[in-house]
Amino acid sequence: ASSKLLLLCTLSLSGGGVVAYSESQADVIKTSVQVNEKDSKKKRVVVLGTGWAGISFLKDLDVSAYDVQVVSPRNYFAFTPLLPSVTCGTVEARSIVEPVRNMIKKRNGEIRFWEAECMKIDDANKKLLCRHTSENNLVGNDEFSLDYDYLVIAVGAQVNTFNTPGVLENCHFLKEVEDAQKIRRSVIDCFEKAVLPGLTEEERRINLHFVIVGGGPTGVEFAAELHDFVKEDLVNLYPSVKDLVKITVVQSGDHILNMFDERISCFAEQKFSRDGIDVQTGCRVISLSDKEITMKIKSTGEVCSVPHGLVVWSTGVETRPVVKDFMAQIGQANRRVLATDEWLRVKGSENVYALGDCATINQRKVMEDISAIFKAADKDNSGFLTIKEFEDVVDDILERYPQVKHYLRSKQMRDVTDLLKDPEGNKRDEVDIEGFKLALVHADTQLKNLPATAQVAAQQGEYLSKCFNRKYLSEDNPEGPRRFRGSGRHQFRPFQYKHFGQFAPLGGEQAAAELPGDWVSMGHSTQWLWYSVYASKQVSWRTRVLVVSDWTRRFIFGRDSSRI
Ligand code: FAD
Repeated sequence: ASSKLLLLCTLSLSGGGVVAYSESQADVIKTSVQVNEKDSKKKRVVVLGTGWAGISFLKDLDVSAYDVQVVSPRNYFAFTPLLPSVTCGTVEARSIVEPVRNMIKKRNGEIRFWEAECMKIDDANKKLLCRHTSENNLVGNDEFSLDYDYLVIAVGAQVNTFNTPGVLENCHFLKEVEDAQKIRRSVIDCFEKAVLPGLTEEERRINLHFVIVGGGPTGVEFAAELHDFVKEDLVNLYPSVKDLVKITVVQSGDHILNMFDERISCFAEQKFSRDGIDVQTGCRVISLSDKEITMKIKSTGEVCSVPHGLVVWSTGVETRPVVKDFMAQIGQANRRVLATDEWLRVKGSENVYALGDCATINQRKVMEDISAIFKAADKDNSGFLTIKEFEDVVDDILERYPQVKHYLRSKQMRDVTDLLKDPEGNKRDEVDIEGFKLALVHADTQLKNLPATAQVAAQQGEYLSKCFNRKYLSEDNPEGPRRFRGSGRHQFRPFQYKHFGQFAPLGGEQAAAELPGDWVSMGHSTQWLWYSVYASKQVSWRTRVLVVSDWTRRFIFGRDSSRI
């Protein structure tokens, strides 16, 4: 209520660079904005979103150099990697969130925050239309417009249902804190219903059939959490139905966790099989009702329907409508995801940046340059390079584009090293450039689509804040101090993603991890590594203490099964 009061006061005073927005201006935002005296000389940076990308941008930004305003429908930051733990009460929802206003207080209040959703970005007039979405019927305007000099889009992405009929109406998602809380209540609900008198055994069995669609890290982690919750806590509380519980993971690909190293996929599948979690690979969900889930088995084309008690849909993300609308304005309508260059500047728009899950870096130019390097090295136009020439070319590429290094180590790029050997495994004398380029095309796909992870989003936020902090320093020399490309100069080095590895908690105090340098670690010790990393990555001491005490509480007392 206090944030709403603050918003209303600011609106009525018009001193915050915000003016009330009227319904008749729904498509083009024409309202002019009065700017605070204090900030009139400063350029205004508006940040959309308080997730990983937005918050890590704000954390390091020199807020005294800009008039910084933040718009987000969430007045908190959520530590998403612990969301699966919230679904079963291993940690409490409030332990993984940090209020944005706490963060602002630490920055001497120099950032202004509006709890609202950006409904439209008007690129031509550099204006935003925002709407406060409240469950309560409070007095005053909900809509306002905001001018910007620089816009940082960090709105994340929304759940992708692939237009599968019935998903929106009958599935749970695991994207927001509210989703996790809802799942927690529904799981308990399934158990309470299953033990009521008068149900047949088949009805109890159906109510206790939990289906997870998607065998990626989130789906697998939720399945593992649920299995632990059932085995460690619920079987003791609902002994009469303990043998009727079933957990099924439906995956369209051939393996779960297929973005991880093969050894991890295999370890996870074996562990799930021992735990009695049914993994259905090669199955695509074609429709869903409140009672049944209908799937098609890809190899045989056979269609089958299975009754369920609860379904969690966790299959990937897609672009939000506000971003799609913006893409149409700037000539990116034919793209799936908003494209930026390697400096995170949105292509086709001035002074707009995009980070995190809502954006993808378009590196076509890098690939064209790399092809040109190969062509130049192939002096006799034979299509082959000697090993020495090839190694020189790779060194040249790595020196110019260090960001390719990570991908040179990736699975697809390991195929490239195979090109250096003949079928018997002996080292070749020369290398087929086309073969190498083909492998580069695979890597290009990866390069363009950095994974939609908190790690990428946070690194991008940190990178962009450094660019903003030095923007003024480099204004004396607009061409920039460094040369990165064959032609032209740039003020800043391009964004380079550093992969620090990733975890997959698998339940039963076991986890798997892919660590830097292609290291793979699995088992109980990895779970302890997971605990230490996730405790250290918390954004404040408050959440760190809360999360660690939740883990301790769970070890001592078990999870709470109240449906509140
Ligand atoms: P988000 O963190 O989603 O933030 C988007 C922000 O934009 C939110 O504050 C939202 O309220 C706001 N917003 C939305 N619409 C608007 C609008 N119209 N106007 C203004 N603001 C808006 N990644 C890892 O690296 N490791 C993990 O272990 C991991 N586990 C995960 C587990 C789960 C259950 C989930 C869902 C994700 C997990 N991820 C993990 C992925 C990671 O959470 C995302 O990649 C990351 O959150 C992306 O950051 P972001 O800032 O782009 O988007």
